Amino acid sequence: KKTERLQKLIANAGVTSRRKAEELITAGRVQVNGQVETQLGSKYSTHDLIEVDGIAIEKKPKVYILFYKPRGVISSVHDEKNRKVVSDYFTDIINTRIYPVGRLDYDTSGLLIMTNDGELTNHLLHPRNQIDKVYVAKLSGIVTSAALEKLRHGIMLNGRKTAPAKAEIISIDRKKQYSIVKLTIHEGMNHQVKQMFKYIGFNVVKLKRERFAFLTLDSLTSGEWRFLTQDEITALK
Ligand code: URA
Repeated sequence: KKTERLQKLIANAGVTSRRKAEELITAGRVQVNGQVETQLGSKYSTHDLIEVDGIAIEKKPKVYILFYKPRGVISSVHDEKNRKVVSDYFTDIINTRIYPVGRLDYDTSGLLIMTNDGELTNHLLHPRNQIDKVYVAKLSGIVTSAALEKLRHGIMLNGRKTAPAKAEIISIDRKKQYSIVKLTIHEGMNHQVKQMFKYIGFNVVKLKRERFAFLTLDSLTSGEWRFLTQDEITALK
């Protein structure tokens, strides 16, 4: 039977964050099989009886959603300035805390996975797993193949080299002076796409994520969502 760190088991059950779970453990509020466990990192399985303040942690069913995030929405569960957040779309429908897998900027639209599966989230976000993220960007100015070639090789961003990206010109409007470019990356640094284009001298005026792994938006329109199918969930893992 697979064992995992106690704080992770508590977080995975949807009780609280891993950080808060660590605090609960050190504070002596967690019992395993009837014994107080204060050791961080001790390993158990989902078959052990884990209690917080004497209440067994519930094993919340996992939820997986494909969401077409509109522009003008924050990729977070709450916002200090009270702007609309992605969770607002689900509070009345899903009675468990779900959160976005990674982030899209406030002014970026497109595909965002929402889930309460922490393990899958880590898997999908780790650059080692080379998961495609495909963006379509509208750039001000006329982009050249030579400029995009730099992105294909990788550039230095915040002291790290980006992995080679796929970059393809979709269209160019010389009259209105803009270019549409499709960019495929595997990492998810802060504002990575905007930073990459900035590096080669272009401002992103509009950005949309079209694909994440093999998932696309299909017939969804902005603000719509659907549950992932069992086959899709299996394939993502
Ligand atoms: N890169 C960006 O610059 N913004 C996003 O929202 C996503 C990727």
